[in-house]
Amino acid sequence: MALHLTNGQTEEMIRHARREYPDEACGLLAGKACPEQGRRDGRVEKVYPMTNAEHSPVTYRLDPEEQYHAFMEIEEEGRELLAIYHSHSHSPAYPSATDLELAFYPDSLYIIISLADRARPTIRAFRIVEGVIEEERVEITLFEEA
Ligand SMILES: [Zn+2]
Repeated sequence: MALHLTNGQTEEMIRHARREYPDEACGLLAGKACPEQGRRDGRVEKVYPMTNAEHSPVTYRLDPEEQYHAFMEIEEEGRELLAIYHSHSHSPAYPSATDLELAFYPDSLYIIISLADRARPTIRAFRIVEGVIEEERVEITLFEEA
């Protein structure tokens, strides 16, 4: 599965990460899964920046109430949860031991935005199933959707 984002959506996540720095920022990406060459392919339609209930520079937890409302809206609008994103303030864009423990959604992608080099944020996406990490492609379309 490859995740497709617009540059606007990408910038929104990076802005969110910078706003929360040095705490980790977290949120959800919802959209449509579209089959492509027999594999699942996801096109992001909506970014849900959320409160990190831990307010921590080393870990994150989606605010439960915000998460509940977002899940309801995603369902009502006929979308799917495509990815959960969070930022790393000082470490690379790779899942930490804590991230592995907290990866409760095997069908979702985990996006990590690293601000270790604050001038040059990096974004990577992973699928985490039973502690096994697999990197996925992220495609960024360099224009806004209408
Ligand atoms: Zn992490």
